[in-house]
Amino acid sequence: MMQTKMIVIRDKQYRDLLREAADILMSGGLVAFPTETVYGLGADALNPQAAKKIYAAKGRPSDNPLIVHIADEEEMGKLAREVPEMAKKLAQAFWPGPMTLVMKKREIVPLETSGGLDTVGIRMPSNEIARSLIRLAKTPIAAPSANTSGRPSPTQAEHVWEDLNGKVNAIIDGGPVGIGLESTIIDVTGSVPMILRPGAITMEMVKEVVGKVELDPTLLGNQEMTQRPKAPGMKYRHYAPKAELFVVEGKNEKVVEKINALIKEAQSKKMRIGLMVSRENRDRYPNHKSIDCVVLGSREDEAEVARHLFATLREFDHQKVDIIYAESFSGEGMAMAVMNRLMKAAGQKKILV
Ligand code: AMP
Ligand code: MG
Repeated sequence: MMQTKMIVIRDKQYRDLLREAADILMSGGLVAFPTETVYGLGADALNPQAAKKIYAAKGRPSDNPLIVHIADEEEMGKLAREVPEMAKKLAQAFWPGPMTLVMKKREIVPLETSGGLDTVGIRMPSNEIARSLIRLAKTPIAAPSANTSGRPSPTQAEHVWEDLNGKVNAIIDGGPVGIGLESTIIDVTGSVPMILRPGAITMEMVKEVVGKVELDPTLLGNQEMTQRPKAPGMKYRHYAPKAELFVVEGKNEKVVEKINALIKEAQSKKMRIGLMVSRENRDRYPNHKSIDCVVLGSREDEAEVARHLFATLREFDHQKVDIIYAESFSGEGMAMAVMNRLMKAAGQKKILV
């Protein structure tokens, strides 16, 4: 165990506060920091010993590569052996922002950082604290989500504290994140860019910029896992709350009816129930002591649902609920990313009505 320092930032005057965190990174230590997607657990990406510490602190399998965070676009060419034209276009369009590009790596990126792969995932975050920290540390920062492996990703500093207190040198508290789901990962090593993990940069947005885009077939779900996802992290059980979670999908009326029936059944077994529902349906479920009902957001606003998803899963752990039912969310924009995380949290368990 080590002493974990909490560095709280609440206004624009934070450069001095970041100095200490940057020193820790430069000397091979671990610092968790806010980004616009989720909190990241950072280490010097070019220092293999430092990168290894990330795996130990998270309990992360060593074949699951880390995303390398940069603060300036020129850094991309120092890490990637080839920067294809489409990568330049995508970087131009979406950096700084919630998009990771997978490219062939240069020697300088250690295998400890790339999870043994000859490619590297690179991202330039839009969060100002994150970019200032990277610049002060004068090195690219490897950072996966700052949670214990398998748990929901952290969207506020308290979540990081819960998982990593005593295991990292410092946590920078920059308040709650804006997006709440991890970055869109796009593999640009082939002739057509391929989305390996959906996020706030949607398929439609990518298509606008580069014309064509493919989806890793393992993202389409429902098929048996005979194929391996191309993003190694996507094969692991993820974001899982302690209770069993079921996603209920179908016409809205039927979904409400089914969840109400499931509530009755669970109550008869004296179970404590967690519900994740839309604002539009909230009042259609009973108000009862044995139910923790959380509104994820409006059915019209997938970004709001995304922002609340992981914190809600953690909250249900605290409330010690026995079973969780979630409405399914479909639609434009971030719906695909929301459903990808929700179905992973559910271990792919869906009730169709
Ligand atoms: P996390 O930031 O915790 O979501 O973890 C990083 C994610 O990025 C994992 O799902 C990795 O599998 C994925 N990733 C990072 N680098 C690569 C790469 N070179 N190729 C494919 N996936 C990657
Ligand atoms: Mg993660």
